[in-house]
Amino acid sequence: MKKTLLAALAVLSCGAAWADYPEKPVTLVVPFSAGGPTDKVARDLAEAMRKPLNATLVIENVGGAGGTLGATRVSKAAADGYTLLLHHVSMATSPSLYRNLGYKTLDDFEYLGMINEVPMTLIGRPTMPAGSYAELSKWIDANRGKINLANAGLGSASHLCGLLYQSTLKVDMITVPYKGTAPAMTDLIGGQVDLMCDQTTNTTSQIESGKVKAYAVTTTRRLTTPALAKLPTLDEVGLKGFNVSIWHGLYAPKGTPKAVLDKLNAALKTALKDADFHKRQEALGAVIVTDARVNPAEHKKFVEAEIAKWGPIIKAAGQYAD
Ligand code: ASP
Repeated sequence: MKKTLLAALAVLSCGAAWADYPEKPVTLVVPFSAGGPTDKVARDLAEAMRKPLNATLVIENVGGAGGTLGATRVSKAAADGYTLLLHHVSMATSPSLYRNLGYKTLDDFEYLGMINEVPMTLIGRPTMPAGSYAELSKWIDANRGKINLANAGLGSASHLCGLLYQSTLKVDMITVPYKGTAPAMTDLIGGQVDLMCDQTTNTTSQIESGKVKAYAVTTTRRLTTPALAKLPTLDEVGLKGFNVSIWHGLYAPKGTPKAVLDKLNAALKTALKDADFHKRQEALGAVIVTDARVNPAEHKKFVEAEIAKWGPIIKAAGQYAD
């Protein structure tokens, strides 16, 4: 048989081998603790993708090292569509932060598309004496050198936001890393740490129920979510140009068959239009992206640009880990 015919047959039989995908539950790795902001996005997305993909997505929380442990786990998983990664901006910051990253961000994954963007809020322990941002500002001045700021490890969203906050204020705080902002939130509520910058997907309900003090939002525009609408922006209270919003994306191990990637991308697109998904995410301050951004090539280009954007900021801050 001619070589070209053999190659064509190989492609056909390969495609056919994946025609029945998915035939069992798909594991969705969340590289942070259960109950945190990324976990909440993942659980809502898993529910919305269940029907269009015709499979259950089972969440596996692999927290630690700013999300890099979970990403490593997926980069080494079988490229068969049964292990996926839901990650955020840390995908783009960790290459500059970690000297020995266990994977190559641009080479070891198939990019499926972007999911949403989530603003952050600056919050404090409930016993914090400051009731407004102006009072917090005075409290920070009076307590320099003693302030604890929680985060989810190097490269996490809370770390980046806290880093930007400290450098804008020119105040150094004592950072306390956790495996995710879910356990950090427990300590903040308990008064073990003073402040945290965290995504609205995690903070909205705590702010609503008065379990934490809320001081400001990190976007340049005020938010419309009822519990957050009264909060000033950091830009408005004097930190001109302060603007942090966290994106999430979906990834598969490198080498996952095209037929599988196409099914996953189509299911993701359908899930992002699901009315319940929108309602739940919007109530937590998240903004679902438009169809054009749920595109593998587009998303990879975007992550490349994000790596280039964050690299110099991280270098200037002198942050890194082994
Ligand atoms: N997204 C992380 C989490 O789910 C927190 C962070 O990035 O700061 O815990």
